[in-house]
Amino acid sequence: MKIHEYQGKEIFRKFGVVTPRGFPAFSVEEAVEAARKLGGGVWVVKAQIHAGGRGKGGGVKIAKSLPEVKSLAEKILGMQLVTRQTGPGGQKVRRLLIEEGADIRKELYVGMVVDRGTQKVVLMASSEGGMDIEEVAANTPEKIHKVFIEPGGGLTDADAEEISRKMGVPAPALAQSKDLLQALYRCFWETDASLAEINPLILTGEGRVVALDSKLNVDDNALFRHPEIVAMRDLDEEDPLEVEASKYDLNYISLDGAIGCMVNGAGLAMATMDTIKLFGGEPANFLDVGGGASAEKVTAAFKIMLSNKKVKAILVNIFGGIMKCDTIAAGVVAAAREVKLAVPLVVRMKGTNEDLGKRILKDSGLPIISADNMADAAKSVVAALKKTRKKPKTRPKKAREKKK
Ligand code: ADP
Ligand code: MG
Repeated sequence: MKIHEYQGKEIFRKFGVVTPRGFPAFSVEEAVEAARKLGGGVWVVKAQIHAGGRGKGGGVKIAKSLPEVKSLAEKILGMQLVTRQTGPGGQKVRRLLIEEGADIRKELYVGMVVDRGTQKVVLMASSEGGMDIEEVAANTPEKIHKVFIEPGGGLTDADAEEISRKMGVPAPALAQSKDLLQALYRCFWETDASLAEINPLILTGEGRVVALDSKLNVDDNALFRHPEIVAMRDLDEEDPLEVEASKYDLNYISLDGAIGCMVNGAGLAMATMDTIKLFGGEPANFLDVGGGASAEKVTAAFKIMLSNKKVKAILVNIFGGIMKCDTIAAGVVAAAREVKLAVPLVVRMKGTNEDLGKRILKDSGLPIISADNMADAAKSVVAALKKTRKKPKTRPKKAREKKK
């Protein structure tokens, strides 16, 4: 689960990660009020969306007076902010963070993720922080330093100090930098984070180390332990179809292709997407209906998949084990009828009650294409998709004549 920068900073502060002072604002009035409460003479108006790259996209602006805070808040609130992480459509800004302006001497980078290879949390740090960290990673990876943290011992003083030195923290600030990194690690560990990133971590004119940005992602599987973080969920920032799917406990991720996939089991779902790609198609989603889905769940899954306007053909690939093929077939038929299915549907099912399932599909009278193995299924759905694309666009004769 993702949260906003201002929420991440609230959590950071609880663990002792130093951040600038700031308040969230949901309206222009609240933005001005926040700036007034903060005092001082320089403020930063920051768009809060679940995507990075806001600075470059025009979502982070400095104000030097209250009227300027007001006009920037008016401009940024409600804007469709496009960054390299939002996609071309951008994301609507509904919240702001009004923060005191920091005196930046140098921008550094710190990030933590779980490294599956070593089964440890890896701390990454660089002297080249700020808005171009992606380029640093691509062009000069030697400038990114790493520490693999022993789960038993945590981030040691020695490691925290050494990596601070490597990212260019001057001697007088080393102790504070060490504390901040250790606080970040405790925060990562105790919130069950999957990612914690500070970009930039800054050195201020006074020689202090401060987290100027925050990104904290929490492992969904651990959310039951963190009701206070669940309360931070912002559904406006999530894909509406993924939100709907989560209500039914379906594992659904929207993708960019045209072939909707409904599969049981994450492994089979991955293999199905690979097979589709192998035969020249692009999946429109990942959808794992799980091991023991009911016909109702299958119907819901089908509807969610179809409400994605990009879907022009569907492949259902089911292995009947705990989930029986006839259950799936009944769900598919019910859903196809309910939504008046208008795109080609290929179904491949194997396993428990396979014959019964196939009979249900056949007897339904729906134009369902049956496939016997995965390759056949993928080929059929790609071919069916091509056919729908080849169809000449027939406009009524009258309309054509009028145009002339
Ligand atoms: P993003 O990563 O989405 O672009 P950041 O929070 O990192 O957003 O902000 C982008 C840039 O704006 C930072 O690299 C920094 O230079 C500047 N900035 C952000 N917050 C402040 C602040 N409180 N004071 C001064 N400059 C800031
Ligand atoms: Mg940043």
